[in-house]
Amino acid sequence: MRGSGDLSTWASDPGRSRGRRYPEVPAPTRDDFQRDRDRIVHSTAFRRLVYKTQVFLNHEGDLFRTRLTHSLEVAQLARSIARSMGLNEDLCEAISLAHDLGHTPFGHAGQHALDEVLRQADPASSGFEHNFQSLRVVDELEERYPDFDGLNLTFESREGILKHCSRRHAEELEAREPAGVGLRFLDGTQPSLEAQLCNLADEIAYNAHDIDDGVRSGLLDYEQLLALSLPRRFHQEALDAFPRLQGRRLLYEMIRRMLSEQVYDLAAASSTLIASRGPATADDVRLAGMPLIAFGDSMGSGLAEVKVFLRRALYRHPRVVRTTEGAKAVIRRLFEIYTAEPDQMPAGYARRVPGARAVADYIAGMTDRFALKEHHRLTGVAIQLAGEEGGG
Ligand code: MG
Repeated sequence: MRGSGDLSTWASDPGRSRGRRYPEVPAPTRDDFQRDRDRIVHSTAFRRLVYKTQVFLNHEGDLFRTRLTHSLEVAQLARSIARSMGLNEDLCEAISLAHDLGHTPFGHAGQHALDEVLRQADPASSGFEHNFQSLRVVDELEERYPDFDGLNLTFESREGILKHCSRRHAEELEAREPAGVGLRFLDGTQPSLEAQLCNLADEIAYNAHDIDDGVRSGLLDYEQLLALSLPRRFHQEALDAFPRLQGRRLLYEMIRRMLSEQVYDLAAASSTLIASRGPATADDVRLAGMPLIAFGDSMGSGLAEVKVFLRRALYRHPRVVRTTEGAKAVIRRLFEIYTAEPDQMPAGYARRVPGARAVADYIAGMTDRFALKEHHRLTGVAIQLAGEEGGG
């Protein structure tokens, strides 16, 4: 069902937003979700994404994804699917571009290390989660506006940015902001369709680019991939259409076909689901009791197989593990030093929140190369993390 303009009635409508934490005068030429998107693009944390590792270390080669290119790919996918389904594209873009703002340097290795040291330093701490940290960035840590900390985004953008959340963190949020973005992790309600869509666009993007970067770096073997049902199917389709295709163009064509099929499958399966549940508004979506954006069963199981493969073959590849061990050591050492000598951090950080959380905020905001530079400055030891074999 189409609502005002080209939006479905169950799409998020900026005119019915639950608003910002600090009321603001509306902008003359942009609606509230467009304004959120613009604030994110101009934020400090967004600029730093270009120097943050996705899977391959940022400085390992110019050919691999960073958090910035990943976020742009997620935004492209989410917008494209949103348009075809009559969902709000601007909200999807805002959520996608902000979803990884809370990531530490050095990818998941950095996150695990920071979580570990934070819990050790403060047993009462709820630990480090990158989704929760993304929300902290847009709610508290950006310092750009005279009247408030953070970017003062709308409820709907914040709801989408907080993709997952532990019960502990949800309770913390709920205490500060009753019936706010933490509530759904306590009462089992769902987020907007735009938030659900960005979550799956994230998966589509990283499955595709990890295969691409993985094969081109030499860490994944293309032949091995063909044991999996989805890559095998699209490899065969590519060869049926272009029998002489080989090398990178064959890889790209296989990935391109797989990517397109996921987009079409997601839009079709979700539309069927929405039709069967019949939400009339965006709030009905929140009460639907289950996500209404989902892959069809067969695509879902094909993708699960790809994920298991990538975890085993790529994320746990000895070369990736070797560099991540080094990265973890850098994070642990930085945490130790800033905890013992808070004056080594910019003054704002030591003042903002007590102890360990301030140190975690400071380290989480660093780019890969700044973390290495700080490690060198504070310890005199220069760490080289790039894989010795080099990337393709
Ligand atoms: Mg992501």
